Parts: sequence; C-alpha cells; structure tokens
Amino acid sequence: MNSELLSTLQRCGISPDEIQGGTLAVRSPIDGAGLARVRETTPGEVDAMIAGSKAAFLQWRMVPAPVRGELVRLWGEELRQAKRDIGWVVSVEVGKITAEGLGEVQEGVDICEFALGLSRQLHGRTIVSERPGHRIMEQYHPLGPVAVITAFNFPSAVFAWNAALALVCGDPVIFKPSEKAVLSGLATFKALERAIARFGDRAPPGLAQIVIGGAPLAEMLVDSPAIPLVSATGSTRMGRSVGPKVAGRFGKRILELGGNNAMVVTPAADLDMAVRAILFSAVGTAGQRCTSLRRLIVHRAVKDALLGKLLPAYASLRIGHPLATGTLVGPLIDQRAFDTLQDAIATAKTQGGKVLTGGERALAEEYPAAWYVRPAIVEMPAQTSIVREETFGPLLYVLTYDDFDEAIAIHNDVPQGLSSCIFSNDLREVETFLSAAGSDCGMANVNIGPSGAEIGGAFGGEKETGGDRESGSDAWKQYMRRTTNTINFSKELPLAQGITFG
Ligand code: NAD
Repeated sequence: MNSELLSTLQRCGISPDEIQGGTLAVRSPIDGAGLARVRETTPGEVDAMIAGSKAAFLQWRMVPAPVRGELVRLWGEELRQAKRDIGWVVSVEVGKITAEGLGEVQEGVDICEFALGLSRQLHGRTIVSERPGHRIMEQYHPLGPVAVITAFNFPSAVFAWNAALALVCGDPVIFKPSEKAVLSGLATFKALERAIARFGDRAPPGLAQIVIGGAPLAEMLVDSPAIPLVSATGSTRMGRSVGPKVAGRFGKRILELGGNNAMVVTPAADLDMAVRAILFSAVGTAGQRCTSLRRLIVHRAVKDALLGKLLPAYASLRIGHPLATGTLVGPLIDQRAFDTLQDAIATAKTQGGKVLTGGERALAEEYPAAWYVRPAIVEMPAQTSIVREETFGPLLYVLTYDDFDEAIAIHNDVPQGLSSCIFSNDLREVETFLSAAGSDCGMANVNIGPSGAEIGGAFGGEKETGGDRESGSDAWKQYMRRTTNTINFSKELPLAQGITFG
C-alpha cells in the first residue's frame, strides 16, 4: 500500500489490519490503482450490531438531549481537526477535487454545530384544549436505532448529516457506507469514535457502529424490525427496493434518491452569472452529484448568446488529477459510469440530439485504467426519454423554450424532483417558478445553481427522488417519535366533541 495513503489513514485512526488482506477491494478512480483490501462485516456481526444498537438505545434515550449535544460538539471538533486528511481520502477514493473533498468534511462540521444548537430545541407545541381545565402538548422522544446507508458520491457528509441529528435525537446509528467509498466512510466514522471516547461512559457501547460490505448487508438493516428508521441515499433503483421493504414492516424511511435537475434561463437572466453557475453545477464532481445540473431549459432568444459564452468556458475546463492545483474536473468513479455516459450520448443522438462539445474519454494514455471524460453538452430537439433519465456524469442537455409556461412544463415533466433553479431578474418569472404552479422539486433556487446546498435548509426531493428530507430545518423530527399528551387538571371528566356517555 502507498505510504502516503497508509500514513493518512493511520492519522484518521484506521489501523492497517482493517484495510489489508480483506475481501473488499478499494480502487482509486484517479488511476485505477488498488488502494486497500478492507475486511468485510459478516452477517453474524451485523446481527450482533443490531442487538447492540437496541441495547444502546435504552441508555442513550435517557441521556438529556443537551448532554447528547456535547457528543456532536466533540465530533465536530474531531472532524475539524481531521478535515485535511479526510478530505484527502475522499479525493483519492472517489476522485473529488481538493476543494470539494474538503467541502464535504466541512459539511460534517457544519451539521455538528447545527445539531448542537438543536439539542436544546427539540421542542413540541402546547395546544389549547376544547375542554375546560385541560391542556394538550406534544413531546418528541428518541425513536430507536437508525440505519444510515450512503452513496459513493458523498461518502462523508451524508453520514454526518444523518448521524449528527440521530445522535442528538437520542438514537444510536449503524452506518453502511457505499462499498465504493469505504475508506472515506471509515475515516469519518473514526472521528466519531474518537468523540465518543472523549465523551466517556455516558455513551453506551454500540452507540455508533459501522458495517462494511455490499447491498446484502444493507438489506439486513432494511429488513430488521429493531431499526425503526432507515435513511438510505443512492439510486432510485435502490430506493425502489428499500422503500417497500421498510413500509412492509411499518418502519420509517428517509429516501434520498436520484435527481434530474434543471435550470431555466430566461431573457431576463444575467447570462454571465448563469454561465458560472452552470459550470459549477454541471461539471463539478464530474457531474456526479445528486444535485448536478443535467438539463438547461433556455429561452430561444438567449440560447445562442448563452451557448456562445458556455462553450468557450467548457473548452477551458481543466480535467485531470483531482489533487493537482487548478483541476476542475476529476475522474468518473469507474468504467461502468463511463459506459453509461457513452450509452446515454449515443441514445440522445438517435433521439435527435446534437453533441455541441465533449463526451469523449480524456487522459486515456496517462491513466489507462481510469475514466476521465470531457464534459458534454448535447442539444436536444425535445425532452425525449433519455433526457428524462438521470445519467450520473457530466452530461448537460440543452432544451429550448418560447413561452414561460412551456419552460415550467418541460421542467416538471421528468420522474425525479430533487433540485431546480431559475436565472431571471424578472419578478413575475421568479415568483411563478417558486409558486405552487412552478417547480415541483424539493429545492428551487433563484440565480444560483441547483447544487451545493447549505446544511441549514431541509435537503431532499419529490417524486422518484423519494419525498423525504434530511439535514436542516425541521428534518430532525423524522428521527424522533411524537407523542400528543392531553392533561386534565380539572375535577371533571368532560369528553371531547361534547359527547355524554352514561
Ligand atoms: P447505489 O444505489 O448503487 O448505492 C447506494 C447505497 O445503497 C450503497 O451503500 C449500496 O450498497 C446500497 N444498496 C444498493 N442496493 C441496495 C438494496 N437493494 N438494498 C439496500 N441497500 C442497497 O448508488 P450510488 O451509485 O452509490 O450513488 C449514486 C446515486 O445516488 C445517484 O442516483 C445519486 O443521484 C444518488 N444520490 C442521491 C442523493 C440525495 O440526497 N438525493 C445524494 C447522493 C447520491
């Protein structure tokens, strides 16, 4: 194993035993080189973890929430201290450029701070009663063990989003990172373990556990009635399997699935700003964000002007080693991602698409075992079937509209509903886009791109994206169970709805 990797992983708290000689091979998308062979969790160990999590819950739920907040404060500190190392591991393991690898760990720091504040604000309402001498109130109580299943493209942040809230809400966590990004998952998890060690024996054994392996181990968590909440981030294909299984046992779920995010650019847009936003959101993370920009819906009157600025910007994009200064586009995660992109472009052509730029493999000589690609722009005559699919790579479709209602109709006519945006300085257009008759997505932005959300807002989307929310706002409520309490402090026993009985 490369010594820089070994020493970085050791600084992250990962021992050589955990990552050498195991059955799960980890490769770097940067050059295809093998990075580690990680020991996989056995099904028997998963069973034991579920039992341990159940036992931990009985203790953790009794620790006052502000005290639980202290644990996430410590985790935030650990993440802050390890930010460079974890960010580097994210870059090496999933190919994010340095700034994005670091940004991902920063999201973990941010959510820990958010959750710390939340630990003193897990409050319900007091509600007036229709009966004299009565009061109604709501309380939020801890829910139970939470399974967190994550995707390869946010191997650190998404675990932090879920675990920081779950822990503050009084729930133990079992983390199943993507099998394509276990080192980043482990590094983030070790920071939590250090925080737990500093927190001391108020944290029960089994409070946070990690399962290493593929979908069958995740399915054990999905199927377990001991886990009342499953938070699963990944493809819609995965969500179609997980959703019904959790529903079948009356569990709760948070599904964060694929997106097909669009930008509407109107004649009232600042085109220079739009170009900068398109660039970041369509090619950042090599188009491998759930919120990546995939569809550009531009008014016919400004299409040529916009493309006239966008195409030179695409031509100047620096593609290469994600840790090299100045690189903006790193590699795709694997050959499968490259092949899927090629298939999508070929299909788009058969559906009338015209490739304006990109799509071809890059740096093949330098990195024969890695999959770099020139970000593609494909102009489409209409929103055909391939445009309605999520292709997880730097492929941007351009669609033209004439009438603003038509733009919104095109915008919403896809199965996914994660993130969306409009570039316009026309108040009517902007407010219509944000209104009930506008974007049908979970996130709708104005004059910024669809990606790069802050942790303070609720994150998630509608339709095939899953319909759930995590991270900020009141997403914490999903990690708790709500009780409605009616208290009678009178000497009578009046019934609701004016009922007299006997
Ligand atoms: P994936 O669906 O292949 O895998 C995601 C996780 O689910 C992995 O940990 C995997 O082991 C597990 N898994 C797969 N099949 C499963 C099953 N049947 N039961 C239980 N677990 C299963 O996704 P990926 O390729 O790692 O990630 C890319 C996808 O994730 C894209 O579609 C992207 O849009 C989506 N994503 C969504 C969000 C969001 O917040 N909406 C965030 C990041 C990624």
